[in-house]
Formats: sequence, structure tokens, C-alpha cells
Amino acid sequence: MYHPSPITYIEPLFRPPSEARSLIFQITNGCSWNKCTYCDMYTQPQKKFSVKPEEDVLREIEWAGQNLRGVRRVFLADGDAISLSNRRLLTLLDALRKHLPEVSRVASYCSPNNVTRKSVEDLKALHDAGLDLVYVGAESGDDFVLKSINKGETHDGTVDALNKLGDAGIKRSVMIISGVGGKRFYEQHALNSALLLNKTQPEYLASLVINHPQGIERFQAGFGGQYELMNQHERFVELRTMMNALELKSTIYRSDHASNQLVLKGVLGKDKEKLLAQIDRAIETPEQAHLRPVWIRPF
Ligand code: SF4
Repeated sequence: MYHPSPITYIEPLFRPPSEARSLIFQITNGCSWNKCTYCDMYTQPQKKFSVKPEEDVLREIEWAGQNLRGVRRVFLADGDAISLSNRRLLTLLDALRKHLPEVSRVASYCSPNNVTRKSVEDLKALHDAGLDLVYVGAESGDDFVLKSINKGETHDGTVDALNKLGDAGIKRSVMIISGVGGKRFYEQHALNSALLLNKTQPEYLASLVINHPQGIERFQAGFGGQYELMNQHERFVELRTMMNALELKSTIYRSDHASNQLVLKGVLGKDKEKLLAQIDRAIETPEQAHLRPVWIRPF
């Protein structure tokens, strides 16, 4: 007999593009920080941070195991599910293995602060229990920019967190925001972001482009009035500055998020020269660079 799904979501629900085929369990709602000045993902009243009761998530996992076929990937939402205690995360990961044994990848968003209180051994235990991949919004490697956007993180703290995750065997997909430093601070944003990436050698790197769907006032206030919006050409120059400074050994790079006009894909460092040439073409002859039409971009 078919039992209706007990899996519930408090919307809106966000996930990375590469988790489009994943079964999502919303083990937390919203974001425990929720103060970044560029982020309006979890601003609605129903998205105030909360943790879904453990017994509810366990019931959802058990139901999925009994009723769904072909689940290979699981994404743990929302903004920072890894803020939960190790005991709680291990209970959920054990239930996933027991009820959904065909799952080959469990992933989650993770902010650097989420792992501050976790040791490498704690993270190894999560990896051994099935946590394969975390998406870390580093956003910038520059401390001034991080402070101005109220990220609540630092260059050193992010490096430390990414290296702990890497030492534990958890793959890291790092996001850097293009244009987040504006015209005045683009160079330090690009160079210090490259430095952060060189120090941590993440498995995946993605570029997103800053956007301000709810207005730019709060964001500009964080920079004390010193933030100036960049145009597309200037953002390509910034991307080139970062790319040129990267010394990555084996990082899969993508700029295919909907916010990007220049779609790039490659492995760094072997494809660095090819990617630089593509960015140069976008800078010098944008009409020949196969840019996404502006109307395709949702921002
Ligand atoms: S940590 Fe992430 S989800 Fe939370 S406010 Fe910042 S950008 Fe948004």
C-alpha cells in the first residue's frame, strides 16, 4: 500500500545547479548566520533558522527508502546543514546508508564557520559515514571585502576550514563571487581569492556574478559608500586577474551558474592558458566570445 510522502519543505528551497537530480532532505531551515549583505535567500519570515526535529527527518529517510527507486544522490539543505552537531549528522548519515544504500553521493552547503568547532577527526567521521562533498561560499579571499559584505568569515578562517575538510577527505566545491569588490577593490579581491584557492587546492571551483535583486543600498553601506558597480568588461578583467594568479593542480572550474555571461569549463591548471585565452577574447572582442545574451540571465 502506498503511503503519502512525509517529506516536507519550507520554501523557498535552494540547491546548487549540480544537485538538480538529488533527493533533498531539508534538515535545517534557513541560515544560522543570515547577515551577508548580498544575500536574500532566507529573508522571509518562514525562513528564520530552525532545525527540523530528528525524528521527522528519520521518518522521511525511511519513507524514501521504502518508496523511491533510483536515488543516487542526496542533498542536505538549507544554507548550513553542517552547523548541526556531529552526533546528529552521523545519525542522519547512518539512516541514509541503511535505508538508501544505493546513494553514492551526499552533499551539503557548508560555511567555514560550520567547521570551526569540528576537528579533522570529526569531519573524517562524517566522510566515513557518507558525506562526500560540501559547497563552500568563500565569496572572496580578501579580508576587507569579506568584512564589507558582512560575511562573518576571514581569509585565514576559510583557508583553515577548507584544509580541514580536505584533510578529512571531503571534496570541496568553492564559490567566488565576481564583482563583489566593485571597481575600487576588484584587484585585491581577485588576487587574495587566488591566494586562498592556491593554499587550499579545492576539487571544484565556481564563479558567480554579484547581483542585487532587492536593491544595492544595504550592500553599498557595508563598503562605507566606496562600492562602485562594475560593468561586464571590468568583471572579465577581474576574472582574468584571478585566473592568471591561480596555481591549481587539479581543480574542475565552472562558470556555468545562470549569473555568468561568459561560460567557462576546464581543469586548472592544465586548461589555464585555454581559459585565459577565452577570457581575453571576451575582454577584447566580446562579440566573438559566445557570451550568454543578457536576456537569458535572470539577474
Ligand atoms: S552564509 Fe550563505 S546563506 Fe547565509 S547569509 Fe551568507 S550567503 Fe546567505
